[in-house]
Amino acid sequence: MTEQTIYELSQPGRKGFAFPEPDVPSTPLPQEFERESVRLPELSELDVIRHFTNLSHLNHSVDGGFYPLGSCTMKYNPKINEAVARLPGLANTHPLQPIVSVQGNLYLMYQLQEWLQEISGFDKVCLTPAAGAQGELVGALIIKKYHQDNNDPKRVKILIPDSAHGTNPATSSMSGFDVVPLPSDARGNVDLEALKTHCDDTLAGLMLTNPNTLGLFDEHVEQVVQLVHSAGGLVYGDGANLNALLGIIRPGDVGFDIMHFNLHKTFSTPHGGGGPGSGPVGVTQALADYLPGPIVTIIEDGDEENPPFYGFYTPEKTIGRMKAFYGHFGMLVRAYTYIAMHGPEGLRDIGEKAVLNANYLMKKVSEDYYLPYDRTCMHEFVVEGAWKDIPGVHALDIAKRLMDYGFHPPTNYFPLVVHEALMIEPTETESKQTLDAFAAAMKAIAKEAREDPEMLNKAPYTTPLRRCDEVKAARDLVFCCWVPEE
Ligand SMILES: *Cc1c(COP(=O)(O)O)cnc(C)c1O
Repeated sequence: MTEQTIYELSQPGRKGFAFPEPDVPSTPLPQEFERESVRLPELSELDVIRHFTNLSHLNHSVDGGFYPLGSCTMKYNPKINEAVARLPGLANTHPLQPIVSVQGNLYLMYQLQEWLQEISGFDKVCLTPAAGAQGELVGALIIKKYHQDNNDPKRVKILIPDSAHGTNPATSSMSGFDVVPLPSDARGNVDLEALKTHCDDTLAGLMLTNPNTLGLFDEHVEQVVQLVHSAGGLVYGDGANLNALLGIIRPGDVGFDIMHFNLHKTFSTPHGGGGPGSGPVGVTQALADYLPGPIVTIIEDGDEENPPFYGFYTPEKTIGRMKAFYGHFGMLVRAYTYIAMHGPEGLRDIGEKAVLNANYLMKKVSEDYYLPYDRTCMHEFVVEGAWKDIPGVHALDIAKRLMDYGFHPPTNYFPLVVHEALMIEPTETESKQTLDAFAAAMKAIAKEAREDPEMLNKAPYTTPLRRCDEVKAARDLVFCCWVPEE
């Protein structure tokens, strides 16, 4: 790997392009575009390709190795998704084209809406939200409008379990609700007694992630939903962990009123590095009128000879638009392809294998690490990344040391309810060999912690950058560390 920047590699006169002879008269650039001060690097095509390829290899990626980041579902993105998303008829369309010229795109979106409805048990799905967090905002705003329309403005309280993802309280309070945290019981479920004390006429709703971020299926989910409903509240499902339920349980059937999907987690559209994601929202019939638009619909039914004609509509009492145009269309194409490739049986297989892989790995890892909730997990599990008798070693040290073994660290210090949490999600796409290799690395690190704890404090040793000051890195962003010499 070269340590030089692309500017330092530059050689005067070198170039990486070859334009054909112009077949039109040349015109000088407008004066305002001619700037002596812009110093562009001069490189050959090969210089540029090598430079960026080498840079890309400095990052860990799902294509490069195991990526057990819990609560994020970094699963393999099948390459066929990319091939389909690049088909000219899909990739080269413009959102301002007349709908008659993009009927294929609309068909794809309509079909995806239908499939997501079938998979989740909801009556209506809107595809536009940009990510899970934006889906949550949609949900919170719908809950708000629903109670307003019922002349019930005193419902100001949203309940959120203490194991929840930070976006849940963030979007609820952005929508003007008071966030009330709910404790978990000893088995990692919502504490029913605590829930009951909040079920009054100020309750707007509950946000529930199921399975939750401990990787546990709430054993009383039906009771939780029923308690909230009988107090007049709505139940929002955070669908980030839908992977574990695919083809087995439908949140709509359990009584959830609203839920977001994270297409970039469950349906294998790529994420990491800032997205884009996609967070469609499903609702029951009673709330369908509040969804953001545009939603794809059939404007004219088809028959045996002619396909239906598709168009858009915006529901009557909509909370408003959430996103420019139609959301992240490229992500919708990838999710469509993924679902089409797997079919119903394949989706169920994903759910079963995600759970099987996580339980297999949990058994192996818990030989050396404390498992605070010792019961069958769903698609992920949480262990403590610390030992009482080795005070100098923390979850962060274990996470960093895993990089030396060639693995991406698991999520650490989340969920907050577990001391020194390491949250591990293997996903269904990993083989037994990969899971065994990861378990062996975790075992080796546990041994290192006993024999040489101080060594772990300085890990990683083999990465291009060693232990970074993460707080400084986040607060004090430096985007460009190279400045040209005058
Ligand atoms: C990822 C995640 C979210 C947020 O979703 P984004 O698509 O990242 O905005 C919310 N809740 C849980 C449990 C998650 O894992």
